[in-house]
Amino acid sequence: IKASVIDGDDFDEQAAANTEESKAKSALEKLQEDRKSLPIYPHRDPLLQAINDYQVLVIVGETGSGKTTQIPQYLHEAGYTKKGKIACTQPRRVAAMSIAARVSQEMGVKLGHEVGYSIRFEDCTSDKTVIKYMTDGMLLREFLGEPDLASYSVIMVDEAHERTLSTDILFGLVKDIARFRPDLKLLISSATLDAEKFSDFFDSAPIFKIPGRRYPVDILHTSAPEADYLDAAIVTSLQIHIQHPPGDILVFLTGQEEIEAAEELLKHRTRGLGTKIAELIICPIYANLPTELQNKIFEPTPEGARKVVLATNIAETSLTIDGIKYVIDPGFCKMKSYNARTGMETLLITPISKASAMQRAGRAGRTGPGVCFRLYTLHNYHTDLEDNTVPEIQRTNLANVVLTLKSLGIHDLLNFDFMDPPPAEALLKALELLYALGALNKLGELTKSGRRMAEFPVDPMLSKMIVASDKYKCSEEIITIAAMLSIGNSIFYRPKDKQVHADNARMNFHTGNVGDHIALLKVYDSWKETNFATQWCYENYIQVRSMKRARDIRDQLVGLLERVEIELTSNLNDLDAIKKAITSGFFPHSARLQKNGSYRTVKHPQTVHIHPSSGLAQALPRWVVYHELVLTTKEYMRQVTELKPDWLVEIAPHYYQMKDVEDAGSKKMPISRRQS
Ligand code: ADP
Ligand code: MG
Repeated sequence: IKASVIDGDDFDEQAAANTEESKAKSALEKLQEDRKSLPIYPHRDPLLQAINDYQVLVIVGETGSGKTTQIPQYLHEAGYTKKGKIACTQPRRVAAMSIAARVSQEMGVKLGHEVGYSIRFEDCTSDKTVIKYMTDGMLLREFLGEPDLASYSVIMVDEAHERTLSTDILFGLVKDIARFRPDLKLLISSATLDAEKFSDFFDSAPIFKIPGRRYPVDILHTSAPEADYLDAAIVTSLQIHIQHPPGDILVFLTGQEEIEAAEELLKHRTRGLGTKIAELIICPIYANLPTELQNKIFEPTPEGARKVVLATNIAETSLTIDGIKYVIDPGFCKMKSYNARTGMETLLITPISKASAMQRAGRAGRTGPGVCFRLYTLHNYHTDLEDNTVPEIQRTNLANVVLTLKSLGIHDLLNFDFMDPPPAEALLKALELLYALGALNKLGELTKSGRRMAEFPVDPMLSKMIVASDKYKCSEEIITIAAMLSIGNSIFYRPKDKQVHADNARMNFHTGNVGDHIALLKVYDSWKETNFATQWCYENYIQVRSMKRARDIRDQLVGLLERVEIELTSNLNDLDAIKKAITSGFFPHSARLQKNGSYRTVKHPQTVHIHPSSGLAQALPRWVVYHELVLTTKEYMRQVTELKPDWLVEIAPHYYQMKDVEDAGSKKMPISRRQS
C-alpha cells in the first residue's frame, strides 16, 4: 500500500514577519515573533488537523524547520496536554536539555515546570510538566514502570532517521501500544530521508511534509586526500576567517578530545595574528559539555566578529545553529561497532555516509547561500562513503536492550517487530551473556537477579556488579565505583604544562597497586572526607564537575538500591570482597599476562594491553579484569583491577573451567597456591 502524502505546500502562506517600528519589545514577544518566522509556522493548522485525523503520522521536514521546538507547543496550545503529557524523544542528551531550555523560554515558563527534560541520571521535570523532552533511552525505561504509557497523550519519536538502538526498539513498542490505546497520538518525525520506510512500518501511516527553506550550498572537495584532517580543518577555518565574507563556521569533528585539541590549536594560531584579524569566537559543543557552556553556541555573533562552532554529529540534525554560512566536513564520525563473535564493542573513527555528508553540507544553507568545504576528494566521496549509516541495532551489543525487553515480558525476541532486525548472532550473544550473568535462566526467563539488575539504568555487567555487592557486603563501595565508572574518563585532569604534577597526584590513589576501580573509590572517598571541597579537587588535579556528577549519580543509585532491597553496607577493609563483586559483573572481561607484557583475553582469546593511563600499567599483574576495551593505536583495556584466577571458577563456574585459568606449562600446581 502506498502512503498518502499530505503536502504542507498546499497551505503555504508566508508568515507575516513584519519588521515593525523599532519598538522596544519584551524578550518574550521577540521569541514569539521568531516562532512565527519558522518554516513550520504556516503549516501549523493543517498539521494539527492531520494529527487530529490520524493516529499515527510521519512528519518530515528539513532540519531547523521547527519540528522539535514547535510541534509539542502546538499540541499543547491545541489542548492535547489536558489529556496527558507530550513526550518528545531525542537520541542525544544535550539535545534534550538544550531544546527543553529553549522551549521553556519560548513559553515563558521555568525549565522543569511545564516544560522539562529527562535524561539518564537527571530528571528535570515536576508534577506540572506537560511537555517532556527526553532521551529515547529514558522513554524506553518508562515502559518498565508504565507499560501502556497511560500518562501520555502524545508520543513524538523525534530524529527517527538517526535510528539509534533505543529509537528502533521504541518503534516496535509504541506501534504495539497504539493498537490498544486509540486515544494515543503517535508522531514519527525525521529530517527527510526514509520517510516511506517509516510509513511502511507503521501500517502505511500518512506522511506530512514540511517544505524547508534552503539556499544553495557550494560543495568543494579537496584535490588530494588530507593526511591530517584535524590540521586541515584548522587551516581551512583560518582561511575562511581571513579571506571570506562574514558568516559563521561549523566544523564537524568526532568527539570531545578532538574538539578540545582543535580549540587549543585555533586559539594558539589566532593569537599569533594579534589584532590584524577580526575576533574569532570559538564555541565547542559535544555530549559532555557542561550545561553552562551549552547555550553559548546559540548566542548571536557580535558585529564584526565571527563564530566558529566545533561540534560533533550533534549539529548534523539535532541542533540547529542560526547564522552558519560555512561548513567544514572532514568526513568522519565516531561509530560503535560490535563483533558478535567475541562480544566486543569498539568505538571507531569511521568515514561518514553520503546521507550524513549531504546533511552536513545542508547546514550551511539555512539562512542564506553557503559553502561546504569537504576535506576529502570527490573520488573518496563516491567510492569510500556508504549511502546510509547502518542502524545502530545492527552494530551494537544488545544485552541491555534484551534485558529491558525481557523485563517488559517480551520473550520471543526473534519475532519482535523490528524495523530492521539485528543479526541473530548478536541476539544470541546477548542472551548468552545475560544467562552467564544470571539474569536469565536456562529457558531464557528473567530471574530474580535479572529483575533487580533491570532496575538500574546501566549496562548489565555493571548492574550485575551492583547486585552482587549484596553478597559481598560492600554495596557502599560498589555504587561509588559504579558512579565513578559512569562518568567515563574525565575524572583526572592533566594540563599540558603540569603533566608531571598531575600524574604524581593521580598515582597517589594507586598506592599498593590497588587497581583502577579501588583508586576511583579512594578518589571519591577522599573528596567526601573533605566535605566535597572544590579546593581539594584543584590540588589533586581532579575535575570537580565530574565529581559532582558522580555524586549525583551515586545518590540515584542509592535510591535504586532501596528499591531492590539491597542494604547499604560497607566493607572497606576487605578489598578482596570488593574485587570479587567487581569480578561478579565483569568476569567475561578477564585477561592473562603474556611473556611479552601484553595480555590475552581468557574467553575468545585476543591480544590486548593495559591502557597507559591505568595505575597498573607498570605493575602488570598476571590476571586482570577490565571495564572496557578501547581501540586507539592498540586494543587497550581501560579501568583494570587485579584478580585471582580461582575467583573466576568460584564466581562463574558455568563460564570458566579449571583448564581456562591454569597457566600453560605448570598444570600440575593448583592455582590457588601459585597466586602472587
Ligand atoms: P527541527 O527540529 O525541525 O530541526 P528545531 O525546532 O530544532 O527544528 O529548531 C527551530 C529553531 O529553533 C532553529 O532556528 C534553532 O536555531 C532554534 N533553536 C533551537 N534551540 C535553540 C536554543 N537553545 N537557542 C536558540 N535557538 C534555538
Ligand atoms: Mg529537531
